[in-house]
Amino acid sequence: MIKIDKEKCLGCGACVSACKKGFELKDGKAEVKSANVSCIKQDLEVYLISLLSI
Ligand code: SF4
Repeated sequence: MIKIDKEKCLGCGACVSACKKGFELKDGKAEVKSANVSCIKQDLEVYLISLLSI
């Protein structure tokens, strides 16, 4: 399961831009829309590993 640490999320939207099927912004924080899309795995490898817990 993928979860976003909302205390660490800056609401920059970079994850949404990189993976629109996987993430969305709500109230200025990212949320996981669908964990079963390949772009989430790419995001994890590049940057989000520090913000997400699996
Ligand atoms: S989780 Fe998404 S919106 Fe939040 S800081 Fe990271 S890239 Fe930006």
